Amino acid sequence: MSRDGGTLESLEDVDQNLLLKLKGVGIESISNLATTTAPELLEDYYSTYDNTTRGIDVETISHAIVKAQQKLIEDGLLQKDFSSAENMLEVRKRLAKITTGSQSLDSFLGGGIETQALTEVAGEFGSGKSQLCYTLCATANMSDKNNGIIFVDTENTFRAERIHQIAESRGLDAEEVLRRISVCKIYYSSHLEAVVRSLAKYIEQFRARLVIIDSIISLHRAEFAGRETLAERQQRLNMLLHKLKRLAEIYNVAIVYTNQVQAQPDDFFGSSMRAAGGNIMGHASTYRIFLRKAGCNRIAIMLDSPYHEYSQVKFSIGEEGIRDLDKKDNTAAFSDAGW
Ligand code: ADP
Ligand code: MG
Repeated sequence: MSRDGGTLESLEDVDQNLLLKLKGVGIESISNLATTTAPELLEDYYSTYDNTTRGIDVETISHAIVKAQQKLIEDGLLQKDFSSAENMLEVRKRLAKITTGSQSLDSFLGGGIETQALTEVAGEFGSGKSQLCYTLCATANMSDKNNGIIFVDTENTFRAERIHQIAESRGLDAEEVLRRISVCKIYYSSHLEAVVRSLAKYIEQFRARLVIIDSIISLHRAEFAGRETLAERQQRLNMLLHKLKRLAEIYNVAIVYTNQVQAQPDDFFGSSMRAAGGNIMGHASTYRIFLRKAGCNRIAIMLDSPYHEYSQVKFSIGEEGIRDLDKKDNTAAFSDAGW
């Protein structure tokens, strides 16, 4: 079955003239249309077409979006508002898991990083967030050679040579691994928002199975620094995260983003650190993993998950990226960290 849900023309009961105009704002497929919201689409529409050619209202656009979503539900690509638990299990069977590079971290995650989900990786500087992203780029097992990975770099820390090293030391074809990664460097929060808005198009173009955003919050945090802009920052983040959630479900992709930590007056992790972004981030992420340094090793803590217990696991970082601890380190790691 086509991953884009088919072309717009095959959408029944929607004005063909409208569909043509939607193409003008970059909406080419039913899946892409289904991931948008009416206000978002109307805004793109108004900035593309002038007064005389508009002739469109929010109801017409909402109708088209609903039709697109219904088509995906019929095709079994999207869940209905109410769906039997058995059906939901069927949809979950489509999901794929990507190994993190460490068996202990994988089993801690129930098999690896999941498609149809948002996985947040939070932690201090140097805790291994980017290393995990790089390792996923190498380990992601593409069912099809033409599948790809989208890497959005907002901190200017992306290092192709590090992924090359990880792939090579895992005995993979490093050139092949690098070839399938499309990197987008971003310097402004508004640019990040625009890219996420167009992400459906890029997911289709690069046949992406994995989308990485390293990090999701740094630009918004830097640009909306004061208390008076906090509400706007949160609202913008909320829109980003909702869009990502729809994309993960509709395109069956794994979306992984890193998050920073901020000092916390109440001593929650014993280190006075908490993931940034407040409740909005906490509620949007399907899985929240917190990384901590533990001597030379690392500890991952599962903060929120619909079906994992609150737990933690130790792993390490080496030439091959994320990996299991050496046996001798296994007992030492927790005492290193003061746990
Ligand atoms: P952040 O959480 O800030 O993104 P990183 O993921 O970049 O941090 O982690 C940086 C850490 O990864 C380094 O401090 C080092 O411990 C480890 N690391 C980076 N490259 C290598 C390598 N080639 N071999 C072993 N460890 C490495
Ligand atoms: Mg980093």
